[in-house]
Amino acid sequence: MSKNKFAIVFVGPPGCGKGTQASLLCKEKDFHAFSTGDEIRKEIATGSAFGNKLKQICDKGELVSDDIILNMVKNFIDHLDTNRVLFDGFPRTISQAENLNHLLLSDELWNVRVFDFHVDDEIVFNRILGRFSCKACGQGYNDKTLKTKVAGICDKCGGTDFIRRDDDNEKTLMNRLKAYKTMIHPIIDFYKNLGVLETVEASLNIDVVWSRISASIDGFVNS
Ligand code: AMP
Repeated sequence: MSKNKFAIVFVGPPGCGKGTQASLLCKEKDFHAFSTGDEIRKEIATGSAFGNKLKQICDKGELVSDDIILNMVKNFIDHLDTNRVLFDGFPRTISQAENLNHLLLSDELWNVRVFDFHVDDEIVFNRILGRFSCKACGQGYNDKTLKTKVAGICDKCGGTDFIRRDDDNEKTLMNRLKAYKTMIHPIIDFYKNLGVLETVEASLNIDVVWSRISASIDGFVNS
């Protein structure tokens, strides 16, 4: 029986460009993205007591507990109606990686490939501390590298309200990077041992990074 379900995992520090590449993957190759960070922000936006608890954790740059995250992922997998899935920002602990594998391996049709985004801290700081987006359409910008063509007006929709993530500040970013670096090594070893790991040089420009990921995924999906 050939495996015909494809799960891609993007791991990398905040600001490595995972989100941008995730959007391209969904648009160009019909993958369905699941971002635990986005799910958490949706819950925070409801203003619920649970959302407020999550916000306190995110504002400190700490990780949300495995139980909460795995519940979200299990719920997502249980209701899945596609055979092409991208996990963005998950797994972030070895327990999350082992549990994801367990959930997917219980259905032997899944094929897993993991992309490990490498980028220097300096680039991360520039990207994260400078990033903002249009409140109306979500188009992303950067103070230094990707300004709006006309100051204060969104190129895409003409909106004039822009937002920044609460956790995109220096102190929280340092904690997020520390949390990432502490947890990532066993996850990388885990996927390396499974023979499903690929490294992405993520400091290159968006198109170059995308052409490499795209070629690799074509080989993976069509093999
Ligand atoms: P992100 O948008 O992926 O950078 O996530 C924003 C914040 O949500 C992180 O700094 C964590 O506090 C939390 N978070 C997102 N995904 C996870 C995860 N897989 N495990 C634990 N915490 C997470």
